[in-house]
Amino acid sequence: MTSYPNTPLLIDGIWRESRDGRALDVANPADGEVIGTVSHASISDLDEALAAAEQGFATWRAMSAFDRSKIMRKAAELLRQRAETIAGFMTLEQGKPLGEARIETLAGADIIDWFAEEARRTYGQIIPARTGGVAQLAIKLPVGPVAAFSPWNFPINQTVRKLSAALAAGCSIIVKGPEETPASPAELIRCFVDAGVPAGAINLVYGDPAEVSSYLIPHPIIQKISFTGSTAIGKQLAALAGAHMKRSTMELGGHAPVIVLNDADIKRAVDVTVAAKFRNAGQVCVAPTRFLVQDAVHDAFVNSFVSASSAIAVGDGRAPETRMGPLANERRVSAVEALVADAVAHGAWIRSGGHRIGNKGYFFAPTVLTDVPREARIMNEEPFGPVAIINRIRTLDEAIEEGNRLPFGLASYAFTGSAEAVHRLTMELQAGMTTVNHNGLSLPEVPFGGVRDSGFGSEGGSEAIEPYLVTRFVSHLATM
Ligand code: NAD
Repeated sequence: MTSYPNTPLLIDGIWRESRDGRALDVANPADGEVIGTVSHASISDLDEALAAAEQGFATWRAMSAFDRSKIMRKAAELLRQRAETIAGFMTLEQGKPLGEARIETLAGADIIDWFAEEARRTYGQIIPARTGGVAQLAIKLPVGPVAAFSPWNFPINQTVRKLSAALAAGCSIIVKGPEETPASPAELIRCFVDAGVPAGAINLVYGDPAEVSSYLIPHPIIQKISFTGSTAIGKQLAALAGAHMKRSTMELGGHAPVIVLNDADIKRAVDVTVAAKFRNAGQVCVAPTRFLVQDAVHDAFVNSFVSASSAIAVGDGRAPETRMGPLANERRVSAVEALVADAVAHGAWIRSGGHRIGNKGYFFAPTVLTDVPREARIMNEEPFGPVAIINRIRTLDEAIEEGNRLPFGLASYAFTGSAEAVHRLTMELQAGMTTVNHNGLSLPEVPFGGVRDSGFGSEGGSEAIEPYLVTRFVSHLATM
């Protein structure tokens, strides 16, 4: 494996250290050891990135959509060629198993390809006029330089969705990458640079997240914000964007209900949800969390879920047998520990796991809780860790009521053989996404986003490019 690199900033096409030479340590969550550094941008670096983004926007928007698309497809190809190395960096900095890191990297290339194609389809309209000689055109133009804030849980996936949508629309972008997992998103961006994206069209900074966002969002050069992270921070950033009349896309927290009805295929439900729950050690905004299982199948579901989750091999993501790696940092271990302790204090039953593993690195056992009362914090706060909460429900009405109880509305899951139940879930669940009898979320060509406290805007599907475009109307009377 190539050794882990120190990560510089990318400003105006140049990879470089911050002007004041500051850097932060990057640690491997499997053992807590420092593996490298990431440059920490100062305000003068941000000023240079803003000037570069303004110039880069002028250059990039002037290229034809056809040429932009070709460069993006080349970037996708480079990402595929470099996937093995980049996945290795991701596992070292983030902890997820190498197989998951590889899939995320290759899926990133598919996302670039999708947006490269969308770049060529930013259609406008010709609107029939009331008067002869008048042509009425609605054309789509790029909104302008974008500031994007991407988190550490999916260092490539969360960055590539914002980056590809912005570039496809003809926008330039400043990415504020995740300081804890900086190398893999930097290598993603290197693919775009090497594919021929001109200087300034993409800039990459790391630093103090609050300092960077409070400087970039109000800045007059920035026209659009995209953020993925917690609901609490998303609300602050959306408010700041609103105060400065900037458009924003917010992909925030979730607390996905999983409704399992009596007529469900239980083996399928367990196979699908165990894989989805413990992927990336549960640090996934769309992770299944509140399992609401109907009476007649409840015990069978719990037994089968517990035995499948207890069999998950937890370890260093580089070991071939590992199915679940460590949590990404010490903050997550303490947060999950506190949520489990609080649930137990409220009367919940730990059916498996419930504790950290070892005294080195940030490992936490795959955990199943049952009989968790609504008052427990974990029934109300996003666990963002490897904990499944399984509670019993009697009716579909009860499941829908509990599913909609929290202010979140990101993903939801259901398992049933009833067309009527599927129809009711489709119409009544308050969630941006629902997947029934399988896990069909997150493909490049389908919408990805939430409602209510989970945010707004979609980062997938044909609508994902729209927030990066503005509609310009021109009415033209031919006078000759
Ligand atoms: P956090 O809330 O401090 O940070 C979450 C993310 O937001 C990080 O990427 C961080 O760099 C960024 N951030 C924080 N403050 C910011 C600011 N003022 N301006 C710009 N960016 C800012 O918490 P954390 O410990 O890193 O993560 C834990 C929580 O974050 C989880 O409980 C989860 O709810 C949420 N989270 C969600 C996602 C997601 O995919 N939706 C991803 C990562 C974290």
